[in-house]
Amino acid sequence: MYVVHGKLPEYLGNKKTGAIMIRTHTRYDFHTHSKYSDGSESPQSLIWQAKQQGLDVLALTDHDTIDGLREAQKEATLLNIDFINGIELSTRYDQHRLIHILGLGIDLDQSDFMTKYKVFRRHREQALSFVVSELQKMGIALRIADLEIYRTGNYLDRQTVAKWLHANNYASSIPRAWVQILDGIAYMPEEIIDVQGAFDMIHAGHGKAFIAHIHKPIGLKGFSDDDKLFRLEKLKQQGLDGIEAFYPTYSDEDRRFIQRCVTTFNLMQSGGSDFHGSNRPEISLGQLSTKTTL
Ligand SMILES: [Zn+2]
Ligand SMILES: [Zn+2]
Repeated sequence: MYVVHGKLPEYLGNKKTGAIMIRTHTRYDFHTHSKYSDGSESPQSLIWQAKQQGLDVLALTDHDTIDGLREAQKEATLLNIDFINGIELSTRYDQHRLIHILGLGIDLDQSDFMTKYKVFRRHREQALSFVVSELQKMGIALRIADLEIYRTGNYLDRQTVAKWLHANNYASSIPRAWVQILDGIAYMPEEIIDVQGAFDMIHAGHGKAFIAHIHKPIGLKGFSDDDKLFRLEKLKQQGLDGIEAFYPTYSDEDRRFIQRCVTTFNLMQSGGSDFHGSNRPEISLGQLSTKTTL
């Protein structure tokens, strides 16, 4: 089997059109999360499950972190699965909106990428002191030092705070800690990368940038079709390479609209389940629609 680790496999690239061509017999999942962000599984377990499911290619796309990628790569080599380095960046868009941008095929050996990534993560960690001070105003006695034991990767962030809130009985689950407490605390400007910064970071790693789940509020939900087209054209000019064309909860209408965007702007296509393990039990690995599992 042809194995490429961390880069987009050649056989998924079509040099003429720039489209990711998914061969019908290729089973893939380009959107998954591990415990390094808000999934339940370790990167090793994800790869193992991908093997069990008979997937040929898997991308790990944790929220705003690359911490799990090397572990996943190592396991993928052992189990002979193609692995693609990924990240899902929450990006500031249009001043008050967040959109999720998937970076796929990132080369972690590109120093320009690593520099940009580290600056971004350091800014985010520094912004935690604001989050902690807001919590203290609510009567929640948290200190930054208390978070250390909940650290999963190299940096502390709001997810670490969510774990602490849950463990200390301020919320009945980690997702509820977000909904009930953290979502109400405004983001500091430097806590979120802007969409241009995300494209630049992904491209610095020679990766491709895809807009994720456009039917969600953290996508382009709420805009008219014409407005979405206008916005996608602008994003393409800024550096967007593609669109998440296959996703479990897309309706037929969503899919038709996305195909229109793909043709109109010659966008690359990716697809993924947004697997979170037991934290989102209704979704299984490799599931790209509600009807069928590829
Ligand atoms: Zn997302
Ligand atoms: Zn996701």
